[in-house]
Amino acid sequence: MVVNQQFKQQFIMPELPEVEVCRLGISPHIIGHKVSKVVVRNAQLRWPIPEEVQQLTGQEVLAVDRRAKYLLIRFSTGTLLLHLGMSGTIRVIEQSTPVAKHDHFDLAFIHGKVLRLNDPRRFGAVLWLAQNQDERGLLSKLGPEPLSDSFCHGYLFLKAKNKKLPIKTFLMNNHIVVGVGNIYANEALFQAGILPTAKAGDVSEQRYNRLTDIIKQVLSAAIKQGGTTLKDFTQADGRPGYFAQSLLVYGRAGQACVSCKEVLLEVRQSNRSSVYCPNCQQ
Ligand SMILES: [Zn+2]
Repeated sequence: MVVNQQFKQQFIMPELPEVEVCRLGISPHIIGHKVSKVVVRNAQLRWPIPEEVQQLTGQEVLAVDRRAKYLLIRFSTGTLLLHLGMSGTIRVIEQSTPVAKHDHFDLAFIHGKVLRLNDPRRFGAVLWLAQNQDERGLLSKLGPEPLSDSFCHGYLFLKAKNKKLPIKTFLMNNHIVVGVGNIYANEALFQAGILPTAKAGDVSEQRYNRLTDIIKQVLSAAIKQGGTTLKDFTQADGRPGYFAQSLLVYGRAGQACVSCKEVLLEVRQSNRSSVYCPNCQQ
């Protein structure tokens, strides 16, 4: 099945590189600045936006961090947690910018800018974690960051021991490693020469170590590529964070493998598309 190019574009979800680029794009414009007003136009996102966000008025942004696909905006009393869901975008623009459809949440600042969340499908989230609440619930059960040193050689092999589920499903599990979404799982498995349907427990340590290196490379390259879009986060139009990526297999089913020219095949795994080369991947 050939995936329609337009269809694909419309439904690309923000993955870890997009969220990291968003963090880099908004950070310089809000860190050290005080909130003047919090506006909730539609509280019904994936979870309702809690009342507590109103207490941010008068507070200063201390830092902007990321954990998995969550953006963590740090204040002295706690953390505002933002998730882009399937279609969310965040920009820091002039407060005079007219409000558009699906602009559900604003964090306005004294310096005249506003952080604005737009999310047509409303699978995104705006949550509040009080200081003493720490990160127990949502964030504590997450696996290591793929670009951190704790995601190292030996780790995936150890976690995969005796596991019978397909390696792609295993990789996309946030408890194993965060931020390897559908696109990058497809790409990394292709580059590592591993079939997405291979049983996780059957893959050798050597192949897992190579896959670990490739996951880091693929994500780093995407973040670097996204660096060219940083200015989009401060512009009123466009789709910030949705940078053109050079993908080798994702969205290319039915087309020729870039390496051996064999026709790329597609299977559905956990209701997600897996595209692979039957010749290069084993
Ligand atoms: Zn091939």
